[in-house]
Amino acid sequence: MTTSSEIEKAPEPKTESKEEREGEKKGEAKADAPKGDATKKPVAPEKELTMQETLARMRTAFRKVGAPSYEQRMHALDRMEKMILGHKHDIAKAISEDFGNRSKHESLLAEVFITHGAIKHAREHLREWMEVEPRDTNLVFMPARVELMPQPLGVVGIIAPWNYPVQLALSPLAAVLAAGNRAMIKPSELVPATSELLKKIVAEHFDRDEVAVFPGGVEVGAEFAKLAFDHLVFTGSTRVGKIVMRAAAENLVPVTLELGGKSPTIVGEDFSVQDAATTIVNGKLFNAGQTCIAPDYVMVPKAKLEPFVEACKSAIAKMYPRLADNGDYTSIVNTQHYDRLKGYLADAKEKGAKIVEVNPAGEKLDEAKRKLAPTLVVSPGEDTTVMQEEIFGPILPIKTYDKLEDAIDYVNDHPRPLALYFFSHDAEQIDEVLDRTVSGGVSINATMMHIAQDDLPFGGVGPSGMGHYHAKEGFDSFSKKKPVFYQGRINGSAIMRPPYGKAIDFLMGLLIGK
Ligand code: NAD
Repeated sequence: MTTSSEIEKAPEPKTESKEEREGEKKGEAKADAPKGDATKKPVAPEKELTMQETLARMRTAFRKVGAPSYEQRMHALDRMEKMILGHKHDIAKAISEDFGNRSKHESLLAEVFITHGAIKHAREHLREWMEVEPRDTNLVFMPARVELMPQPLGVVGIIAPWNYPVQLALSPLAAVLAAGNRAMIKPSELVPATSELLKKIVAEHFDRDEVAVFPGGVEVGAEFAKLAFDHLVFTGSTRVGKIVMRAAAENLVPVTLELGGKSPTIVGEDFSVQDAATTIVNGKLFNAGQTCIAPDYVMVPKAKLEPFVEACKSAIAKMYPRLADNGDYTSIVNTQHYDRLKGYLADAKEKGAKIVEVNPAGEKLDEAKRKLAPTLVVSPGEDTTVMQEEIFGPILPIKTYDKLEDAIDYVNDHPRPLALYFFSHDAEQIDEVLDRTVSGGVSINATMMHIAQDDLPFGGVGPSGMGHYHAKEGFDSFSKKKPVFYQGRINGSAIMRPPYGKAIDFLMGLLIGK
């Protein structure tokens, strides 16, 4: 294994002969050259490249080498797998350092397992995804052949948020590499230890003209978004998504925007209140609610409000009997977010909502450790910030509805959400909710499970995002599906040229009438 210091000393890309390129396309020798070439001779250390220099270098390498072969892409995915599995405990440790406390199991599940699933799925399906797709040729142009050829775009930029800092940087990367691209990643400034770890492990496993990481804050992000990538994936808030899309528009860079918002949860009349409460509380408190697809608020039938509140309290107590020293209960990422959440609660209280803090052991929570007790906000008004802003914390507003259609109308009166959850065993009601609401994704009788399905695409709609990744849709997002027409040796194209004569009149007569 090549070390990161050796990588820094790697020579500039040299011009390759056709034979070398052919060999590389077949996955021979050079496919192993990036990382893992123990014969590489150390040369004078190279300076760190700027983002612009890196992009230029990646673009040059892409042009020179062309679309990587199946074997080369598999090799890149293998290196990703080695990187993430080999550093799984470092990842969990770094994220916990950044958060104050992040449940180790949540890191292994949400960062490592999900990303590894994306890598495995891409590897299993890569051959079929890369296949040229034959399409039908219009009869009048026969004999000819038409097909759709997937082709890598070139260099893809990835801007990641802090809440799942590894998954949201590397899961897009799996699709980007499977599609044969190179990538530049800008992680979030709110998780500096994780960002530095990402930079280090990526440099250990990839050449810097394949994948490079640029930690930094808003200024770095703003500069990054202005780069003339071939595609830009942004995961973050709807507010910053608009800024990023504006910057990308200057270079007509296509964007995939994975944004946020308020994901509604509806509990159906027929569903067990206890079961719904357990699942919803679990989804809400995973990562202490700092999840883009966390159930943001719940709507329950009016008659079930009190039983539902009680069921939430006991479900929380079962999952988190203690909070302060409980490693399973994740901290709020920083003071600013902690204060923001406290502010939401103060606002809801002031505006008359009932606040139910669930602190099962009645512990005194040290503010410096930023553990915010799970809190139910019962019947908040529409003017509360908790019902206006994405919560992104362990606060669960609970509203009531009279008829299912009222709950559906409520969802439709608000921006299209990233996720929607409905709890019911009534097939008709499930169909009604699915048909009448538009959202990024849905889990029925569960929360957040749709994101963990490797064969399902993931992405928002409208204000919650545009475009998809995960599954084949991810491969397609980062590929140009190039339509190709192959003219037949014998063909009738001559009749379509001037001077137009009787043959074209006859043909048009047949096709569209005289
Ligand atoms: P954010 O929008 O504040 O930041 C996201 C990234 O953008 C960070 O790397 C940040 O440095 C960068 N950035 C900030 N200003 C920028 C600018 N002007 N130009 C370019 N880049 C800039 O989001 P966040 O606080 O890190 O994450 C929370 C938000 O992300 C929530 O709204 C959440 O719902 C959303 N989110 C969405 C998904 C999804 O898959 N749809 C996943 C996780 C989080």
